[in-house]
Amino acid sequence: MFDLVIIGGGPAGVAAGVYAARKRLKTIFITELFGGQSTESVGVENWIGTKKISGLDFGKALEEHLRSSASDSVEIKTGIKVVHLEVEPPSGGSTSKFLIKTSDGTSYTAKTVLITTGSTRRKLEIPGAKEFENKGITYCASCDGPLFADQDVAVIGGGNAAFETAAQLLAYAKSVILLNRSDTFRADEVTVRKVLSHPNMKAVKNVVLKEIKGSKFVSSLIYEEAGEVKEIPVTGVFVEIGLVPTTDFVKELIPLNKYGQIPVDPRTQRTAVEGIWAAGDSTDGLYHQNNIAAGDAIKALENIYLDLHTK
Ligand SMILES: Cc1cc2nc3c(=O)[nH]c(=O)nc-3n(C[C@H](O)[C@H](O)[C@H](O)COP(=O)(O)OP(=O)(O)OC[C@H]3O[C@@H](n4cnc5c(N)ncnc54)[C@H](O)[C@@H]3O)c2cc1C
Repeated sequence: MFDLVIIGGGPAGVAAGVYAARKRLKTIFITELFGGQSTESVGVENWIGTKKISGLDFGKALEEHLRSSASDSVEIKTGIKVVHLEVEPPSGGSTSKFLIKTSDGTSYTAKTVLITTGSTRRKLEIPGAKEFENKGITYCASCDGPLFADQDVAVIGGGNAAFETAAQLLAYAKSVILLNRSDTFRADEVTVRKVLSHPNMKAVKNVVLKEIKGSKFVSSLIYEEAGEVKEIPVTGVFVEIGLVPTTDFVKELIPLNKYGQIPVDPRTQRTAVEGIWAAGDSTDGLYHQNNIAAGDAIKALENIYLDLHTK
């Protein structure tokens, strides 16, 4: 049996993994991929100690750091997902333990669990959204932006991610229209001002999206603005309407908040379930950033170590 299972290989999981190795906790580290959400970023410029790093290099650096620290304490499993987690209650004098099942059909047991599974992109729920996924509807300007060179594209959303996406697309696209549901943009004022000053940029507020149309690929977008229904020709729709915590696999075990996040005690990162900690974007932490995810996971690891050695 392992002392600890760490689930997720973003900044939170990797930070905890490095600390677990240094503390010689017998750990099983399971992640689908290394690096987490920032691997989609063209450049991360606020990872402390590193002036600028591409998202892909950020993922590689995290993996290298963990592999070089792991020694015989941390066993790393990548390319698989944890699909099920359950508590096995204490029996015959032994304490409770956790049973972890993975997508390749393997099971592991551990005394404690740290969940760092982060989040994924929220999707549109309008006619055409499913049909045109990856056929014009996309979630990554840095990956797919160049495919839309000299074309008309739309960005859905009004936060920093939406405006940063628009800024990236302006380098390639003929025109960018940003459609926002409410009458205020949540993005930083300076970003909004800069992006909207571009001659090929337009933004519309108070928009109700109706439908995405096309034949093989997206060809237009229908929305309602002030009671008027409009159809605009676009070939790309970049969706930036928020994130969904990756917590589905524990929803039967841990009470989640209304956003699907795992509530934690911010002093220790403990969840409501004895023996389970969580850190990073999968939690109800107020701010979601790489440095915060890593710091919170280290906090959790310190508390896990104490828990394992004081019981
Ligand atoms: C495009 C983009 C750019 C960003 N840029 C910045 C930036 O410049 N600076 C900054 O500070 N923040 C940035 N952020 C936010 C930052 O990426 C997140 O706050 C951070 O990634 C959260 O880290 P995490 O470890 O909690 O989760 P994540 O990074 O989401 O990592 C979760 C990991 O868990 C794995 N996983 C998920 N489910 C399972 C499962 N069931 N089993 C096994 N593994 C699983 C995933 O493969 C993934 O590797 C950006 C976010 C996005 C989307």
